[in-house]
Amino acid sequence: MTLLDEVPERALAVYAHPDDPEVSCGGTLASWAAAGAEVHVVIGAKGEKGTADPDADLDALAVQRAREVAAAADALGLAGVHLLGHPDGELDAVPGLRGEIVALIRSLRPTTVVCPDPTAVLFGDGYVSHVDHRTIGWATLDAVAPAAASPHYFPDLGPAHQVATLLLSGTLEPDVWVDIDDVLDEKVAALFAHESQLADDASEWLGDFVRQRAADEGRRAGVASAEAFRRIRFVR
Ligand SMILES: [Zn+2]
Repeated sequence: MTLLDEVPERALAVYAHPDDPEVSCGGTLASWAAAGAEVHVVIGAKGEKGTADPDADLDALAVQRAREVAAAADALGLAGVHLLGHPDGELDAVPGLRGEIVALIRSLRPTTVVCPDPTAVLFGDGYVSHVDHRTIGWATLDAVAPAAASPHYFPDLGPAHQVATLLLSGTLEPDVWVDIDDVLDEKVAALFAHESQLADDASEWLGDFVRQRAADEGRRAGVASAEAFRRIRFVR
């Protein structure tokens, strides 16, 4: 049971869909940003399939979701957002995904990278991890180690960079927790920025739901509110 209280100098969170970072690690990113870290987010897919309406204008939804990402980034205090713009639900058909992430790691030079745990597929008896979450998780693992750290992988994508710490969210094997009690309002505000994804009655329950989940994780870590991760350290 480790409470992670060191703040990375620079962090990069790599996720599949526009609202995934907020759900998975929004409090952690906000708390690092508030403590002076340079925090960037990468979003792999446009999120244009994030609607149950069969007649929806998917191009318009993609544009709206990009605006929502920007608003959420403001709420979290992020330094930058990088939209890869791939089709929703099809990240596994993108041949250059690993290279795109390597290029961003080498240009932004994060000390910590955060992404979904791709080994976590089946959650209880009611949820299967989205294929895009698994795909971007694997691509990020492979981009961090060994690709970005070796000059012989993707030699045209900038100088090699060794990420020190990888934090995996949505994991079945958490071993570190980040205290997010001071930034719960920012996490909730960032989730509410994704207006296209909110149920009509979200204002009645979403804030409480987020706080309850954070309290559940906080109990495991001995603090009031937390987010959980599985940690891999390449540099100690
Ligand atoms: Zn997602």
